[in-house]
Amino acid sequence: MESRVFEMIAKEEARQRDNIELIASENFVSENVLRAVGSCLTNKYAEGYPVERTSGNKGRYYGGCEYVNELEEYACDKWREAFNTDYHVNVQPHCGANANLAAYMSVLKPGDTILAMSLDNGGHLTHGSAANFSGKLFNMCFYDVTPDGLIDMEDVRRKAIEHKPQLILAGASAYSRIIPFSEFRAIADEVGAYFMVDMAHIAGLILAGDHPSPFGLADIITTTTHKTLRGPRGGMIFCKPELAKKVDSAVFPGTQGGPLEHVIAGKAIAAEEACTPEYKEYIHAVVRNCHAMCGEFIKMGYKVVTGGTDNHLFLLDLTDTGLTGKEVQNELDLHHITLNKNCVPGETRSPQQTSGVRIGTAAMTTKGYTEADFISVAHKIDAVIKEMMASK
Ligand SMILES: *Cc1c(COP(=O)(O)O)cnc(C)c1O
Repeated sequence: MESRVFEMIAKEEARQRDNIELIASENFVSENVLRAVGSCLTNKYAEGYPVERTSGNKGRYYGGCEYVNELEEYACDKWREAFNTDYHVNVQPHCGANANLAAYMSVLKPGDTILAMSLDNGGHLTHGSAANFSGKLFNMCFYDVTPDGLIDMEDVRRKAIEHKPQLILAGASAYSRIIPFSEFRAIADEVGAYFMVDMAHIAGLILAGDHPSPFGLADIITTTTHKTLRGPRGGMIFCKPELAKKVDSAVFPGTQGGPLEHVIAGKAIAAEEACTPEYKEYIHAVVRNCHAMCGEFIKMGYKVVTGGTDNHLFLLDLTDTGLTGKEVQNELDLHHITLNKNCVPGETRSPQQTSGVRIGTAAMTTKGYTEADFISVAHKIDAVIKEMMASK
């Protein structure tokens, strides 16, 4: 039977082929990752874990798991190799949000206190937004950014001493600068808190050595696999070996049922790819391209949050243009340039409008864009914005 769904997929395929993709959290996976995710592994139930990975682990709950066991062990080994770490890893979280839920539940009880970065300042929904489980289940407190948009480490320490959190979280979705993990670790030690890093956005940069590593510092590290890691949509949790049992049981049976073994196969392939020198070259190019594009906007007189970037993304502050992030996002869509509206530090507009846009270079670098290409896109965006300002 032919399905209408394939027409819809074909349209999306064309959109992905023809548009300039600047959403900082997106990327394009390899053909091999697509094949794995579309494989027969989607048919298999495999609640539990392969063999006796951790003491007290009861193995799988279903028969016929010999091949998915081999696969999941391989995925774990490859990711440890890719990050060159002896941390324990759990590759079962269905997404980044699930990874964070399980990570919190592994070491906290509902009502415990978490110190994190708020959504307004660049944090993620799962870092304590009132609309999210994190804000409902935990007592959240937030550290601020400086007027320049940099994480205010003095405020982190002040709030840690004041609120005595059980867990301090570092990591963000819209932060363009180096996150000082060792300073966070020192503050967590000072107040006796767990230190967790959510590296969802910058995982690829950490892997390639373009951002300081949280391995060896953080107790728990969560990530997505579909952003700079360029794997299938999914999540992972790394932790110090002594937390392995807590983390595994918080994922299953704590917060999930059967793992998505087809996605775990895609994650394993992404890990193989991430182990190659070509992947590290790719990440270096992402960072170089981001620097070039951001620099061009600054040259053209745009205000950039924090005045620049150290990673794969930057935020344009559109306040001076009188345009909202939403208007610019929508107009650029018509010009086949895809990005997303974003709050800026000290935001005066609602999250539906915003005064900024977020731009990332990971996806188009995968498509082969160079610094010159990104500079030319910066000029295209500038032309659209100028036209919008003129017709206001
Ligand atoms: C993207 C992101 C997540 C969540 O990932 P999903 O797969 O969309 O659930 C979590 N934390 C951070 C910092 C992110 O940027």
